Amino acid sequence: MRRIVRVFYRDDNGFEEEIHLGEVTTHTYTNKLKQKIFCPTENCSARISYSGGRYPHFRTWRYDQHSVNCPYYFARFPVKLGRNLTDIVRVEISYNRRQNALNDAYIQMNLSVEEREALRNSRIKPRNSVRGITSRKANVKAEQLVLFDSGLYEDELIFRRRNISKRLVDGITASDIGEIRLVMGKITSNIVDGETAEIVVENNNKVITVVFEESFTADPYNSSYLNKFWAINQVLNRERVVQFTGIGDVRKNTRSHRLELVIHAGTDFRINNRDISALAAQLALEQYRLG
Ligand SMILES: [Zn+2]
Repeated sequence: MRRIVRVFYRDDNGFEEEIHLGEVTTHTYTNKLKQKIFCPTENCSARISYSGGRYPHFRTWRYDQHSVNCPYYFARFPVKLGRNLTDIVRVEISYNRRQNALNDAYIQMNLSVEEREALRNSRIKPRNSVRGITSRKANVKAEQLVLFDSGLYEDELIFRRRNISKRLVDGITASDIGEIRLVMGKITSNIVDGETAEIVVENNNKVITVVFEESFTADPYNSSYLNKFWAINQVLNRERVVQFTGIGDVRKNTRSHRLELVIHAGTDFRINNRDISALAAQLALEQYRLG
């Protein structure tokens, strides 16, 4: 689905103007635009809302629908999928939850056996805390997590979110293909290719190749990550173990048959729990000081 980058603003006097995403702040949205911005498509009356933060974006007003001919049209749930009539909702995972998941994954990877056991026991939760939430979930039988361009943003949902599934490279199975996963492992190689790279990540002799596609390079939010992948090679030269954690789409490349993790945002992966944009800046500074 396409991302909405401009909207029509219509005030109470009938004044209209087009507004670009870059012109909107949380302040102007709350004080002026809220309930007064609409889909840019002619003859589409869907209202649009705005969400600020690290990834400011427009999204379709919670219960509104685009006209069927509108390029921003999407089917509201429940979506019937032939088999078993499962109702599936596409839910976008918020930036904060992705960051928290990456932190958790790094901690998990570096726990001792005893610490892991203690954590597992502490996670057994009392039953009644879950009950209220599941009853409200009645309408939704399944959720498909997506990273971008979803009709729904998870922060808008009233029910409890399921976690992003974490997998060590050797724990990835056929059922993970086509799904969003947080993948964990050790980097064995990083081949810089233009503005990005191909990173091979391993665990127990199983590998996955982390890839960055044109959509990554073209996304303005990723501009501070381009041409920074050399930093990974420097860390590989310095440190015995370099850990990778990253959230993306797991797929099997149809030509090479290799397992791939497609990353969409620079903030969705880390090298030894470090953001590579920050890492490259630090390394460049160190080298400058050394002359
Ligand atoms: Zn529309």
